[in-house]
Amino acid sequence: MSPPIVHHPAFRAEMPEGHRFPMDKFSRLAALLEREGLAGPDGFHCPEPVDLETLRLVHTEDYVRGLVEQSLPAEIVRRIGMPNSESVATRARAATGGTLLTARLALEHGLACNTAGGSHHASAESGAGFCVFNDVAVAARRLQAEGLVRKVLVVDLDVHQGDGTARIFENDPSVFTFSMHAEKNFPARKAVSDLDIELPDGTGDEAYLATLAEILPALLARETPDLVFFNAGVDPHADDKLGRLSLSDHGLARREAFVLGCCLERSIPVAGVIGGGYDADIDRLAQRHAILHRAAREAVKA
Ligand SMILES: [Zn+2]
Repeated sequence: MSPPIVHHPAFRAEMPEGHRFPMDKFSRLAALLEREGLAGPDGFHCPEPVDLETLRLVHTEDYVRGLVEQSLPAEIVRRIGMPNSESVATRARAATGGTLLTARLALEHGLACNTAGGSHHASAESGAGFCVFNDVAVAARRLQAEGLVRKVLVVDLDVHQGDGTARIFENDPSVFTFSMHAEKNFPARKAVSDLDIELPDGTGDEAYLATLAEILPALLARETPDLVFFNAGVDPHADDKLGRLSLSDHGLARREAFVLGCCLERSIPVAGVIGGGYDADIDRLAQRHAILHRAAREAVKA
């Protein structure tokens, strides 16, 4: 039995002309997971696009309205790096609804994964770096508002700092933000997470995993969260276009197994989101993102 996987068919549509972001990785990933039987006998769990009220738990009224009504200032559109179009808004709402559903399924089953999510550069008043809405922050706030969780831990292992998430929860002790990233990577001006670990260029499997092993078990024991969001960005991979680290496929698989195992052995529900990953070869990239979902299947067997 595989843990639940959330996927929204909005990602099957092609992006409009002129976009720079390889959105197609989401549909390739879903197709790959289906072929491997990871979608489960009843298929993927399909989320509702997140409602605007829920988005406002994190994002400002102006930003949400501007995005949905396609009236964002040019400066914000430039920061996001994607057009202020209906299709971008639809996908962002689907991805955020997906992370919310993933978190609900994680609370129910112990572990669940999205085929999207991890838009960690988005802050309250603006998207940035290909991130529109901060899905993890929105899901955390919504579940807190419903009284389903109190303490939340964000484990962000994307190669870029989770600066948007750090800013959103800067003065909120109910959400602990942990980001481990490449020191010299985007964003140039880092935010302050509750815990930042900055890695030097070229960090490989052994050093990376040893650092994580030093930190994560102690963090879980100290914070005792009701829910963990795991941003499993694959851009620390050696072949990633934007990463500056040197993890192998096997290193990523060990990382995912370690994070999921640490949570499950403490009976802490964990919601996995895919985060970043950049490769001109979309199939190779989908294979890399699927490491999370394969690790999730193995983790529940263990
Ligand atoms: Zn990234």
